[in-house]
Amino acid sequence: MDDKFVHAKRASRGNSGGLFLSDFRNGRFPFTSINGFKLIDVEYKTPPKDIRHERRDTFNKETRPAFLKHLAATKEKELRAIGIDDFGLELMRNGKSVPGYNVHHKLPIAGGGKNEFGNLIIMPIGPHDELHHRVIDPQLKNKVLENGVKIKLPWTDETVWSRPAQKYEYANAASVVKKALMNKQSVR
Ligand SMILES: [Zn+2]
Repeated sequence: MDDKFVHAKRASRGNSGGLFLSDFRNGRFPFTSINGFKLIDVEYKTPPKDIRHERRDTFNKETRPAFLKHLAATKEKELRAIGIDDFGLELMRNGKSVPGYNVHHKLPIAGGGKNEFGNLIIMPIGPHDELHHRVIDPQLKNKVLENGVKIKLPWTDETVWSRPAQKYEYANAASVVKKALMNKQSVR
């Protein structure tokens, strides 16, 4: 997986990006937002096994079905906007998962996350997996997670994903544009 990741990054950043996998592992990302999720600072702390298993179990049996039913009843427009059709909505009304979509724990259970609706979001599997593979997983490698580690976590307040205009947002984009405009004005 690492190998694939490095290749994907090189392909998109070219050789001049100057960022390596080690930077990602240390929580240094060239972007501030990915797939509409802002990177925020959190502590990722793995709870004891019994708590983790209990939360996963409750999620599978109770929380996910209830969350899916709740969204089908309250967010039909948003769900259709990400491609969930009549068939998918009917599955959700019955508390069933929609093929191709994932209910994601924004702070994963393995990082101390709970089964509150505010910690959940439904989204397509592709952008979902990128959050884990590109942002979360590299930072967890070779760390003692039971003690807690500070990581950059992709976060949004939404409970139904929506595709952002830009896949990535960069911190300095606005200031670069501002600077360019100011230079232009001073030259005039
Ligand atoms: Zn997830």
